[in-house]
This record gives sequence, C-alpha cells and structure tokens, in this order.
Amino acid sequence: MTKSQKIGLVSLGCPKALVDSERIITTLRAQGYAFSPNYHGADAVIVNTCGFIDSAKAESLEAIGEAIKENGKVIVTGCLGVEADLIRKTHPSVLAISGPHQYEEVVKAVHEAAPPIANPYVDLMPEQGLKLTPRHYSYLKISEGCNNRCSFCIIPDIRGDLVSRPIASVLYEAERLVKAGTKELLVISQDTSAYGVDIKYKKSKFHGQEIEARFLSLSEHLGALGAWVRLHYVYPYPHVDTVIPLMAEGKILPYLDIPFQHASTKVLKAMRRPANQDKTLDRILKWRKICPDLAIRSTFIVGFPGESESDFEMLLNFVEEAGIDRAGCFEYEPVTGAQSNELEGQIPAELKKERYERLMEKAQQVSTSRLKSRIGRTIQVLVDEVDIEAKQTLARSKWDAPDVDGVVVINETDNLKQGDFVQVKITDSDEYDLYAELIE
Ligand code: SF4
Repeated sequence: MTKSQKIGLVSLGCPKALVDSERIITTLRAQGYAFSPNYHGADAVIVNTCGFIDSAKAESLEAIGEAIKENGKVIVTGCLGVEADLIRKTHPSVLAISGPHQYEEVVKAVHEAAPPIANPYVDLMPEQGLKLTPRHYSYLKISEGCNNRCSFCIIPDIRGDLVSRPIASVLYEAERLVKAGTKELLVISQDTSAYGVDIKYKKSKFHGQEIEARFLSLSEHLGALGAWVRLHYVYPYPHVDTVIPLMAEGKILPYLDIPFQHASTKVLKAMRRPANQDKTLDRILKWRKICPDLAIRSTFIVGFPGESESDFEMLLNFVEEAGIDRAGCFEYEPVTGAQSNELEGQIPAELKKERYERLMEKAQQVSTSRLKSRIGRTIQVLVDEVDIEAKQTLARSKWDAPDVDGVVVINETDNLKQGDFVQVKITDSDEYDLYAELIE
C-alpha cells in the first residue's frame, strides 16, 4: 500500500480561524495527505495562529516553539502570520509563514516540506469537506475581513476590508453540510449583518433561483435547509430588525450574538464602534416583544481608556435592562498597533479587574434569573455528548451556542446519541445551565 505523508495541525484562535484550518485540511486531504494527531507521527506541522491581542500572540509563539521542539518542520499561518518578523526573530527555524486565509501559501509550503506521494487509491474526499467540529454542527463563514475601524482592533489591518462570499456558494456549502449530517449551522464572519455590502448585494443562482447577497435573504434561505441556524457577530444595524420575525416564526434560532462591547455612548464613540447605539435598548425591548424567546449573547470590554464610574454603571444597567442572557467580558488590553493605545485616561489594572468582576457578577445574576424563568417549559434540544458511564447526556437548547454558552443536562443516556434532536422538560436551572428530563 502507498504511504501518505502525514501532517499535524495546531489550530488556535476563533471559529473563523477554525474554518481556515478546515479549508486547509480539506485541500490537503484531497491531495492524498493524511493527518497525525501528535507531533511525532507528522512529517510536518501547521500552526494556525491567533494575533488578536498580545496574550493570544504569546500563546501562538509558544505553540510554534512547542511544535519546533517536538517535530522540527513547522509551517505558520493565520493572524499572527502578518507579523513575520516577530515570528522569525523568536523562531528562526520555521519553514514558511503566511497570513490568514492564504490557503494556497500553506498548501505550497506543505508540498515543499512533505512532497505529496502519488496514490491512485486515495479515498475521495467527503463531499462536504473535512471538519474539525463534531459532525452535528458546522461553522459557516460568509465573509472575510471588516469595513469598520474600531479603535481597539487590528483585525482590518490583518484581514483586510470586507469580502463577502457569493450567496450561492454559501448556500451550496450549507446544503452540503446539512446533507452530510450537520444539524446546526453557525454563521460567522467579522460583521455578519454587513454581509453583501461590498459586493452591492450581487445576485447569484442557487438551484436556478437568483438570490441577492443580503443578510435577510441569507437568513431566509439558510432557514429553509432544515437545520438550526444560529447567527454570530451581528452588529445592531437597523436592518437586523428584519430577521427577528424569522426567529419568531421558528425559521432560524431566536439567538443573536451581538458584540455590543459597551453601553455608554461616550465610550462607544471612543471605541469607534459601528451603528448608532442610542436606541439600542429600545430596539432590544421591541425585538423581545416580537420574539419573546430571543436570547442575546454579547461581549463587553471593561476598563477602556476614559471609562468613568458612571460609564461603567451604564453598562451594568444595560446588561440588566436588556436582559443579556450570555455575556463574555474582557478587561481592556492594549493591542500593538491599535489606535486606542494613544487615548488618554488609561485605567489602572486593579480597577479594570474590579469592574470585570462586577460585570461578571451582574451577568451571572441576569443569566440565573432568565434561566429560572424557563423551568417547566418543554423544549427541543440537540444532543452534544452522551456519557454512558456517568449516565448523563449534555445537550443544548436554541438559546445556547456550542463552547461559549451553557448546556442542558439530562440524567439519561438510553437511546440517545450525538446529533439527536429530542424533546425535554426543564426541571431546574443554575447560573449558566439548565437541567431537564426526557419526554417520552
Ligand atoms: S467590527 Fe470592529 S472589532 Fe469587529 S473586526 Fe471590525 S474593526 Fe474589529
């Protein structure tokens, strides 16, 4: 039998980087490469890095160092790849460096490090490509880059301006994934509600039908594929209102991941955030009237330069009044190259930490009370994990995304398997999770 070259892959960073990794392995697999779960069995190792904040850079450099020590033949790609000098200075022996979504560069470097071996018996690649997430859910990247210029962020410098994929290509990919067993599509990008702006909503043909590349038509067509559809990284532009009825009708999940980052107009201005934030709270309350089941996840930055105690209190009130179901919080960290580094009024580390803790405490209270209000309801959940030994099944509700949100715990495993949709009755809750029993 012909031997295949084996490649190791270390994938760091956000779901967008994970999608890049999936594209790389899909291409390599199609060319006959195999993959090694450890450094020692690999003929070369790809490290897909994150360079968003300084701590992520440090983690990426450490991962490159470990791969060099354990394997020696290392190819670096991803967001940190744009800082090639830093990588070369720290790890002079890396074989090649490329930036985010430069798949061809990575594949070229792999060909040089571990030339492909011709193998007429190579299995055909599965039609949906190869995935790093479990089979029952998939991230669907609809665009690259971002047209905004938030003052704390260097992503547009790294990933460039918004480039939307043609809608037909997104829909065909989603359809393939659903056919291959995906039960939940997680729509990702840097700015999901800006989808199509750069290509002037250009139409393309999906099964003979011309469809505009718009946020609403994308949501409608994805919702018709028969899987759960969850929207991430949605900015509250006015047209976001148009997808709320789709959520109320059950066509897409009643879930919005909106990185608000703050609630004080003054801080948001200093952050140079997109969209008019003045009426945000009113809009959320209106959304909840149309779709009472809507769950909102958000991330916030505390300790941004110039954030006063009253700005921070505005943020605390916002989390409570808007009923933010799931909140992630970061202490502001200067990122090399970001404009916000020049701002006056940098906040001392202890104060940032204190605000972080106060915000997380508030978020926990809100989450606890929102989850409690769901006790007694019968809902559909998606099974993520069945642990026969512990006699426990972990599932998720429509209100929870994988990895970042809570779970639904069911103390039963009989006849359950990953990817099943089942009906459960919620019997209890705590700060972040729900507890439920199966309905016959
Ligand atoms: S919207 Fe702002 S924070 Fe998000 S990627 Fe674009 S510039 Fe960065």
